[in-house]
Order: sequence, then C-alpha cells, then structure tokens
Amino acid sequence: MPHNLPLSPQKGSRSLQEVLAEATKLLEKAGIDSPRLDAEVLLSAVLSLPRHQLYTNLNEPIDSSSLRLFRRLVKKRASRVPLQYIVGHVEFMSLDFLTKKGIFIPRPETELVVEAVLERADLTRPLIIMDIGTGSGSIAVSLAFNLSHAEVYASDISQKALRLARFNAKRYLVDDRVFFLKGSLYGAFKGLGLEGKVDFIASNPPYVPEGEWKELQPEVREHEAPEALIAGKDGVDCYREITEVAPLWLRPGGWLVLEIGEGQAAPIKELILKEKSLGGVEVIKDLQGIERVIIARRG
Ligand code: GLN
Repeated sequence: MPHNLPLSPQKGSRSLQEVLAEATKLLEKAGIDSPRLDAEVLLSAVLSLPRHQLYTNLNEPIDSSSLRLFRRLVKKRASRVPLQYIVGHVEFMSLDFLTKKGIFIPRPETELVVEAVLERADLTRPLIIMDIGTGSGSIAVSLAFNLSHAEVYASDISQKALRLARFNAKRYLVDDRVFFLKGSLYGAFKGLGLEGKVDFIASNPPYVPEGEWKELQPEVREHEAPEALIAGKDGVDCYREITEVAPLWLRPGGWLVLEIGEGQAAPIKELILKEKSLGGVEVIKDLQGIERVIIARRG
C-alpha cells in the first residue's frame, strides 16, 4: 500500500472524517457487523497508518489516489469479502498472520486452544506438539513462538494452506522447529517415529454440520474453504478419528486439546471416554459462554 503522508491539501478534497463516514454508511447498508471499524481498518491500510493515528488526522484531506483505492476496497468489503482477505493479514496471539483467499482465517476463539497448551506445557524439557489441520499455521506458529523448546508437526490437506503456513512460520523464525506436512488428520505424521512421544495434540478441525453451511455469513460461505469448516451431518466427523487414534501418538500424560462447535462438548466427551487411556476431560468456554475447547489427558 502506498504511503501517502504527509497529506497534501488539495482544493475540494475530502477529509478522512468525511470519507470514513461515507464508507461506514455504505458498509452498514451492506449488512457488515462492524462498519466503522472495518472502514477504519481499510483506511489505515490504504494510508499505511496505524489506526489510532487516523483519529489525530481526521480533519486532514485525503489525496485522490488514496481515496480511489479506499473506495475500491470499501466496495469489495461491501460485497462481503472478509476484511482479513482484503488487508491480507490478521492478528492471532499478538502475532501477525498472513491470510489468503480460500484458506481458513484464524479466529479469536482458537487462541483458547493455544492458551490451554501454554498453561499445561512443561517448560523444563523438550516438547513435541502436533497441530492437525493447521490452515494458515496459527496454532503451530504461535505455539512454537511461545515455546522455544518445542518441535511442532503440523498437517493440512491443502498444499496452498501449507505454503502460507510455512511463510507465516518463516516470518517468526520458527520454521526450523515447525514441520508442515501434507495429509489428512494423522495421515501426514506416519513414518516419523513419533508414536507414543507426543506431548500435545492440538487441533481446530472442521466442525460445522453440513446443514448449517447455508446459514453461515457470506464472508465464510463464499470465500473460505468449505473443507476447513464442514464435517458431516453432525459436525463431529473429524473428532471420531482424532480421539480414537490420539492414544497411539500421545505419550503417557500427554494432552489432547481440541476446539469444538456449539453444543458438541457432550458428544465429543463421549467419543473421548470410549478410549480407555483418555480421561480427565475439561471443557473451556469462550467469551460468549459457549463451550469451545475440550481437553483430555492420556493416563
Ligand atoms: N469457528 C468457525 C466458524 O464458525 C468454525 C471453525 C471450524 O469449523 N473449525 O466460522
């Protein structure tokens, strides 16, 4: 994005305040949940300015090429392209992750998975962590970044996602400890000799029931990858294999930490407890009070 400050006054040009107000109205009409915030994020991207600096420049004029670009991006957002795809990145665990069309956008609730691992991680010895269905690499990279003694093995079925994830790992200099592998669920980890050695299996697998797909926001439905979100009739398809095979990979005392969908805690707890070696089930709620993460431990 071009850097356009200092803003050069031009005759008849509009102030940041005015163009923000205009964009907010347009986004609101398009049904965007946070129209003002989105307008500010887009304007700060266009001007290469941190958002808070917009406030001290509200009465400054915007130059015409920035205004043209801003209007184009606002139109894109009004057509329900996710904000994170337009600006090309998103914050997760206070790190900056690049995003790309068709690759699952890291969500704030998934930070609960990372935090649950960080709270339980033994800081005194090397750790082995698995991230199943890593997408843009948010869980894998933020864990490796926060646990300098950990090796992380991360899988995904999408080559495009793995490329982006590798890029995100490089940006935080953890690419020597995060191994991205192509494959479905545990399929990617075969042949590495990790059986019985894994300290944490972390995952945010697809969990949206097929029937709910059409109720999702257009941002998700029309722009993200269905295979990152949908899992069969009841949304718990992936959890069957994840829980059933977890005891093979986990070391005794190792943890399984999974993000889950609304109302899935009970059926997934049942799946976990089918495995004799798994127990100590805990459930963590998200900020909206929805049961969002389930944790179990291998005895
Ligand atoms: N939380 C996501 C959503 O509802 C779904 C994530 C997932 O399927 N793992 O958009």
